[in-house]
Amino acid sequence: MWPTTLTKSSLEELQARIQGAVVLPDDANYDETRKAWNLAVEQRPAMIVVAESASDVAEAVRFARQEELSIAVQSTGHGVVRPADDALLIITSNLNRVRIDPEARTAWIEAGVKWGQVLEKAQEFGLAPLLGSSPGVGAVGYTLGGGMGWLARKYGLSTDSVRCFEVVTADGRMLRVSDTENSDLFWGMRGGGGSLAIVIGMEVQLYPVTTVYGGNLIYPADMAKEVITFYRDWIADAPEELTSSFAIMNLPPIPDIPEFLRGKSVVMIRGCYIGPVETGETLIQKWLDWKAPIANLFHAMPFTEVGTISNDPKGPVSGISSGAWVRELTDEAIDLMVQYAVSRNGSSPLVSTEVRHAGGAIARVDRNANAYGNRDARHIMQMIAMLPTPEARSSIEQYIARFKNELQPYLTGGVYMNFLEGKESRERVKDGYLEENFRRLTEIKTQYDPDNFLSHSFNIRPR
Ligand SMILES: Cc1cc2nc3c(=O)[nH]c(=O)nc-3n(C[C@H](O)[C@H](O)[C@H](O)COP(=O)(O)OP(=O)(O)OC[C@H]3O[C@@H](n4cnc5c(N)ncnc54)[C@H](O)[C@@H]3O)c2cc1C
Repeated sequence: MWPTTLTKSSLEELQARIQGAVVLPDDANYDETRKAWNLAVEQRPAMIVVAESASDVAEAVRFARQEELSIAVQSTGHGVVRPADDALLIITSNLNRVRIDPEARTAWIEAGVKWGQVLEKAQEFGLAPLLGSSPGVGAVGYTLGGGMGWLARKYGLSTDSVRCFEVVTADGRMLRVSDTENSDLFWGMRGGGGSLAIVIGMEVQLYPVTTVYGGNLIYPADMAKEVITFYRDWIADAPEELTSSFAIMNLPPIPDIPEFLRGKSVVMIRGCYIGPVETGETLIQKWLDWKAPIANLFHAMPFTEVGTISNDPKGPVSGISSGAWVRELTDEAIDLMVQYAVSRNGSSPLVSTEVRHAGGAIARVDRNANAYGNRDARHIMQMIAMLPTPEARSSIEQYIARFKNELQPYLTGGVYMNFLEGKESRERVKDGYLEENFRRLTEIKTQYDPDNFLSHSFNIRPR
């Protein structure tokens, strides 16, 4: 069976033109192929193309236009903005080559590559990419939205480190996009998400990082207020070599969690220091001299182990993510965070409320250098809840909305697009950008995708 509007002959023609697979709703592998990493995403594409090459992507785009299907792109499904219902879904995960140029200190990364692959290959040359907390996240999707990881305060956002993209446009053309070629598109794709063109590959700058001093300090949740207050003072004059966060966690009672933390609420200080190890030790000693934690997991580690700092789930999970930029960690804001984020007898559905320290190299880039917005904001908060059943969504979303509503006086009003998903991401897209940059994004969208075929990523609409 094939989607009713599509003819058997047109599908056969497409299959004959591409190396990859066409997967239709009646195929045995349809359910497995349409899955996203985030199991909360339920999507039923009209058809799926599992691309094996740039040319497959271009053919799929031309076919979608001919059949008037919207086009969705998925590498891992960590950040689905609008499910691919009734769309032609292009899966890029088989475009998975990475090439390191140790002389130029760059990496060429294909669209389906996860950060862990780049990390491993770059480290062979003593180099590091600007990956985020989880090596399992797709490098391209993460970078298109900004990309803030454990090197962010020193080396900035991943999007600021892109040298060029190779793309397929919404009308099926293959273009090279850089500061000198199609520079308007290059400007917009750095921060503007995947709604302007489909990335086939990108070249990014790498940095000389091998050993870092990183980990977690764990304190009981009933110390959350004093820990966060101490954190605020600790980061006031923190060097840019330190990127850090605090996270209030309500840990589930599952065997994956060490026994002493199972089912407990805690507050964690997370960090990654990339200067001399002894200086990192001195920074953490301030905490140990202040109050003894339940556990001090900071240690010198090869950068290949950076994923252990946040220890994000590797396998697929069913989750909801939301977030906001916080203007200042005032006493009142801290009180509200503790009130909503610490679960007392199940009072909070949140598994994690993390506030990361931004600034540094992120804020030094000119506000109009590319589309990415909210460079001046200092603290990005992300709330994560697990979604046990689809029916639980509405009450969890209401809880998060109440939390953010009360925090409003301490928020900047901006959002970080990478930390939003689904409906909220679509409704709040303007808050991800400076007003003039959003206008420019709209112009670029109008030029490159006037019919809005690429409508499943950030909600930037043509004029
Ligand atoms: C466990 C976890 C940890 C995270 N940690 C961080 C972090 O530390 N810092 C941070 O900034 N963000 C982080 N994120 C957010 C993450 O960066 C976004 O969810 C990102 O969009 C994921 O990209 P993906 O390619 O893996 O996911 P996908 O869902 O496959 O793609 C995400 C978006 O990018 C678009 N896209 C993907 N590939 C292409 C392409 N080739 N061309 C055009 N558009 C494309 C998709 O259409 C979609 O809109 C994290 C998310 C999770 C779930």
